Amino acid sequence: MKQRPSFPARLDSDNPQAAPKTLLGATRVVTAQSSVRSKPAGMASPTGVGLDSSTVRARMLQKLASQGIDDAVVLEAMGRVERHRFVDSALVNQAYEDTSLPIGLGQTISKPNVVARMIALLRQAPGLQGEGMMRRVLEIGTGCGYQAAVLSCVAREVYSIERLRGLHDKARENIRPMRLPNVHLIFGDGMLGFAQGAPYSAIISAAGGENVPQAWIDQLAVGGRLVAPTHTSSGQQALVVIDKTPQGLQQSLLEAVNFVPLKSGIA
Ligand code: SAH
Repeated sequence: MKQRPSFPARLDSDNPQAAPKTLLGATRVVTAQSSVRSKPAGMASPTGVGLDSSTVRARMLQKLASQGIDDAVVLEAMGRVERHRFVDSALVNQAYEDTSLPIGLGQTISKPNVVARMIALLRQAPGLQGEGMMRRVLEIGTGCGYQAAVLSCVAREVYSIERLRGLHDKARENIRPMRLPNVHLIFGDGMLGFAQGAPYSAIISAAGGENVPQAWIDQLAVGGRLVAPTHTSSGQQALVVIDKTPQGLQQSLLEAVNFVPLKSGIA
């Protein structure tokens, strides 16, 4: 079995604000310690990569802050999840650079800045204020599982769906040692959403399509927010934010982005 890259690192302190507290519909209480461990179980001991990941992660956070990410909860989550565990060992030295990286099957792990920006946008939804933590979140495009792990720090339940079996399996392998009981990985076509987990407080897509599928709108809770890359009339890709309010949908188009395509069906 392929060895995951490992640093002489620890996951950073537990912040009760940012950690999942309760599971919806369950009596189980998940403490910060049980969801994000100070020493992830099942990890190999340091292999002498020559880089302390907590230091490079701290540098990544500084960069994110300088780029305008000012949501402390998002920064905390980005600081907790060890991105190097989600990339191939050959790319481990680039794991904390603000760049997307190949994860196999022609797909990429999103740039840290884009992950942080999209999650911060979700948390700014007017309908989600006062909740403390997002309830159910649906991610379309699990890829290697990195963003799902970050989402697990800011949401009670994370449903993440991937259409490529190889990547779904890889994400499972990456996330298993982190023991994140609030992350549910699904193999399937995310263009259909995932009705079993609906309604969602938030929906986030890591792949860009021509339009936002109706299923996502249908599965969004009233008060919820959807953030996705989509094609604009000029043929470019841009982030779209859709709020489902009691009065109807409110849509805004934000900055240009560059995501892998949203495709239908499974493979
Ligand atoms: N979330 C990842 C990014 C993965 S890239 C991260 O943390 O960095 C986007 C992923 O979307 C790819 O793995 C691609 O296979 C997947 N994808 C594209 N169309 C999809 C669909 N209809 N349903 C589910 N996943 C899809």
